[in-house]
Amino acid sequence: MGKDLPATEPAFEPDSPSLAELLPSAAGPAKSQRRPYWQRRLADAWAIAQAAGPMRLANLAMLWAGFWYSRLRKRPTMWGLPFAASLEPTTSCNLRCPECLSGLRAFTRPRGMLSPEVAAPVLAQLRRQGFYLNFYFQGEPFLNPDFLALVAEARRQGFYVATSTNAHYLTPAVAQATVASGLSRIIVSLDGTTQETYAQYRVGGRIDKVLAGIGNLVAARNAARTAGPYIILQFLVVGPNEHQLDEARTLAEQLGVDEIRFKTAQIDDYKNGHPLIPKNARYSRYRRRPDGTFRLAHKLEDACWRSWSSLVVTWDGTVAPCCFDKDASHAMGNLAQQSLPSLWHGQAYQAFRQQILTGRSQIEMCRNCTEGGKVFED
Ligand code: SF4
Repeated sequence: MGKDLPATEPAFEPDSPSLAELLPSAAGPAKSQRRPYWQRRLADAWAIAQAAGPMRLANLAMLWAGFWYSRLRKRPTMWGLPFAASLEPTTSCNLRCPECLSGLRAFTRPRGMLSPEVAAPVLAQLRRQGFYLNFYFQGEPFLNPDFLALVAEARRQGFYVATSTNAHYLTPAVAQATVASGLSRIIVSLDGTTQETYAQYRVGGRIDKVLAGIGNLVAARNAARTAGPYIILQFLVVGPNEHQLDEARTLAEQLGVDEIRFKTAQIDDYKNGHPLIPKNARYSRYRRRPDGTFRLAHKLEDACWRSWSSLVVTWDGTVAPCCFDKDASHAMGNLAQQSLPSLWHGQAYQAFRQQILTGRSQIEMCRNCTEGGKVFED
């Protein structure tokens, strides 16, 4: 088993600075000095296109064609290699979010940290046709001491590299190193505009640290005069914070991030209702039935683009079909030890795809996932 940090955050101190005190130092450049939103989006899309190039885009087109051919025939056909992957830097986290295996310390699979020795063969194999690397899965990436060096290596190999963080470790020095690593995109979770609402989901988290971390990142990017990383503030909409969406938009503007996204939350035990399910149905993955119980908002089709286009690699090289398989219960093999084509086209993967095409609802994790539904709302 690799290194694992059972880190926890100190409790929020009542005399910590208020939001109003924090914002002036955390805020980004004035709106008039920033590039318009469409220019920032375009620059980000161009960065993705550059990482892809014509050959990898052709592979993506073949994956798409194979996916639809498989749906028509109800038999899996695979005509390419994955264009995207999620790679797990660590299973450790400093917070204790209630719907997360890291937060609950509830993994049954081994816990640990991605090492350069495991990352090297994994990245080399993914790069054959892959260009989009989500360098996160479970856990807080910045707890891995090798994380930024591995980001720089993935960028050197040509990947577009995105990560997601709770921003508790973005000190000025770490923010500078993050910008210097060449990271393409960073998603910062800020699920509330007050300490009280923020900590209802991000249990053990401190909003003052998140705001300071975002401010450090924006300042480091401005100082380096680089376009990246593209900074997304991600607001997970849950019952306790659903009244703060307008405040969150204002906050994002003041902080100088590039975009704010409102994400719907996955709730494991949703059928009889749950306090985290928002009342505003627009921001919920679930719908209330007349009898008071809940169902998935979208139709569960026997199809899954993710299983035809991308995969997840945990810290020890284990391959899982998607990010809903948090405990790697449907492990397909190990990418640090086996070749990508043998895994991707192998019998276990094809049998899994066949099951999706003929009865997705028979697979437990596929019954409560967003494939075929909407994850983000304006
Ligand atoms: S959980 Fe969803 S995304 Fe994952 S394999 Fe099943 S259908 Fe696809």
